[in-house]
Amino acid sequence: MVTHDVVIVGGSVAGCAAAMLFAREGLTVALVERSPDPDAYKRLCTHYIQASALPVLERLGLTRAIEASGGVRNRLDLHTRWGWIREGEAAPGHPTHGYNLRRIRLDPLIRAHAAATPGIEWLPGHAATGLGIEDGRVASLTVRDGQGVERILRGHLHVGADGRASPVARWAGLTARETPNARFFYYAAYRGLDPNGGRSRMWMGEEGIGYTFPNEDGITVAAATLPKAQLPAFKADPEAALARTLAALPEGPNLAAAERVGPVMGFVDMPNLRRPPARPGLALLGDAALSVDPVWGTGCAFALQSAAWLVEASAETILSHGSIDHALKAYARRHRRELAGHAWHIASYARGRRWWLPERLMLEAAARDPAQAARLFAYAGRSLGLTDFLSPPALARAAATVLRTRFAGGRPRLDPRVETA
Ligand SMILES: Cc1cc2nc3c(=O)[nH]c(=O)nc-3n(C[C@H](O)[C@H](O)[C@H](O)COP(=O)(O)OP(=O)(O)OC[C@H]3O[C@@H](n4cnc5c(N)ncnc54)[C@H](O)[C@@H]3O)c2cc1C
Repeated sequence: MVTHDVVIVGGSVAGCAAAMLFAREGLTVALVERSPDPDAYKRLCTHYIQASALPVLERLGLTRAIEASGGVRNRLDLHTRWGWIREGEAAPGHPTHGYNLRRIRLDPLIRAHAAATPGIEWLPGHAATGLGIEDGRVASLTVRDGQGVERILRGHLHVGADGRASPVARWAGLTARETPNARFFYYAAYRGLDPNGGRSRMWMGEEGIGYTFPNEDGITVAAATLPKAQLPAFKADPEAALARTLAALPEGPNLAAAERVGPVMGFVDMPNLRRPPARPGLALLGDAALSVDPVWGTGCAFALQSAAWLVEASAETILSHGSIDHALKAYARRHRRELAGHAWHIASYARGRRWWLPERLMLEAAARDPAQAARLFAYAGRSLGLTDFLSPPALARAAATVLRTRFAGGRPRLDPRVETA
């Protein structure tokens, strides 16, 4: 007998968002989280939530709580070899901003909202230990509490929102497709770093990327990603190497003059992972379905968006006892349509290649024209897809901008939002 309409494993960004949205549609939800601690949070994160997540955060009713916790509306200054490109007004029809809020604040906040939502049975301190598969469909989930007591949960739909390592995906036989990452990544949080008026900064080069993201309480996250060939030298003293790397950038931050408020975190090997987002009876959300190079700060937005797409595809079907597996196919198609281009592009850059001509064209055009800059930021904020961003008309407009400003004898157009090199 079914115990809940939907059984979700993972009480982090993706799982909590899906649980809240399902419950608001009138469905009963079991939300299973192995950590018993209401203040638990994800440590591996640089806390930049892309603008593509804003509509979901608004739908969840979380933006006010995020801002009350000090969440910074993020805007980006992007430096490339063509100079600074400053994010101004959003392109028409695209979200205006995302948020920077450290996970130490965000995770307890979103979890508390989920736990208080009527219709959700919140099960902290319960670890999922296995799936039951009947007639080729995922039909149940076994969980174990802190005392070792087991319970079987049966849903119409089961959801793995259990992160990059996703035991649920493994039990369901949804294996990850892996592509290599040629770079390593180090970051740390600082107090007393120039907050740049609350604006995030990113220095983007062909070799690597550096950034500073101001968060709540005057804390700024600083990070760098570089080719693995530079790892031995970097690893000898990561704190000094991070400071040296960022200080060498144009108008780069002086980490040495700021107070570090957490450990210097790093990882040396983080391949991009993609799994099929669904199979009969089961959907994967967030990192369980797609976990890409963290330097682009897309994981939380993709987690929130995938939660919303799953609910849109399946809630009505579950309520009306329709074909859930058809709904799951629709969810998987939506996931691919919205994210496959971004995932492919991110994985391609992660191979350590040089920039392609279309990429150089778009960056140079964005440095010279505010409308082109707005489109670039819509793409970076993940509300514009790759095929639209690099469509033939878009490339033609970018080429025209570059030719006009480079060779027409006129000076590049200057705008408060766009500076040229
Ligand atoms: C270094 C680094 C920097 C990053 N920076 C950014 C950034 O700036 N911006 C951004 O958007 N993203 C960033 N990310 C990615 C981001 O952290 C993830 O994409 C995001 O946390 C995914 O959310 P999720 O809900 O899918 O999974 P997770 O946040 O990983 O949550 C999974 C949950 O499942 C639970 N769980 C796992 N197994 C079980 C089980 N068996 N039973 C019960 N519960 C279980 C876990 O306890 C956890 O609560 C970064 C990642 C890394 C590694």
